[in-house]
Amino acid sequence: MARAILDEVHNVAGTGELLISRERLSLRLVSYYWYQVRQFRLKQAAAEIQEPNVVRRLWQLPESADTKWSPVRPDVKEIVEFVAASGFKEVIPRFHTGIDGKIFENRTRGTIAIPADQRAFLAAFEPLLMRSVIAGWAEQVEQYNHSPRALAKVQFDGRRRGSVSKWAQPLRELDDACFYCRRSRPEPAQVDHVIPWSFLFDDATWNLVLACETCNSQKRDKIPANLYLTLLCQRNADQALLAASEFGKQIAFSLTQLTHHSPGGLEKVLEALCAQAYLQGFALNWSPL
Ligand SMILES: [Zn+2]
Repeated sequence: MARAILDEVHNVAGTGELLISRERLSLRLVSYYWYQVRQFRLKQAAAEIQEPNVVRRLWQLPESADTKWSPVRPDVKEIVEFVAASGFKEVIPRFHTGIDGKIFENRTRGTIAIPADQRAFLAAFEPLLMRSVIAGWAEQVEQYNHSPRALAKVQFDGRRRGSVSKWAQPLRELDDACFYCRRSRPEPAQVDHVIPWSFLFDDATWNLVLACETCNSQKRDKIPANLYLTLLCQRNADQALLAASEFGKQIAFSLTQLTHHSPGGLEKVLEALCAQAYLQGFALNWSPL
């Protein structure tokens, strides 16, 4: 709720009293959980039974639901309405516990009002306050998850920092075939993260391969069978191949950034990442049909 208030203050222009409806708070709240639950598979509690209702509802959406946040989907709208109606019953009364003064006042129909002074305070210190809210949430979440970059995942707002599709052409120059089914010269050629992006939350080039559309859309965020992990290690260990192109040199550089050249090399890193990802709920052992 603190995050939603800060986002509202940050995104709504103007000064003076700020009114925020329960629906707006709910929309923001569900979007935060959406990425953490649907995309990154972060658990929010030690035991399933302790998970917030909004998390369970997000789990219940079909597996096929796109990972992209879409507030217009009817089943997502229903969750937003559910949270607006009942999700704040305990949060609002408890919000000011331990705080001198009040950030907001309650108005009719669940709307909260942030007085002009409080709004100015929140706006002035927004970066610091947001950092603190995210850190607190990440501290909570990291207890229950085996996940790299937990804080960055909690913070994620749906924006990606850049597209990996620009690597399709350089990858074709390395090996113009789908990494998984070996179909040559795939059209369109897509770029796949062997260790799923939503687990690693990184676009390290050592992890990128060329994939045909069929394999890419079937694999989604699954971990491929061991064969493909071995093939990835082989590609990344092929010094002559990597030295022959600029992109190859980038792959070689990205490998030097891997945990200070871990003693077991990429094989051990992949083994550890796959074990973590499995504990996190990512599917293992995918192969093309
Ligand atoms: Zn393929």
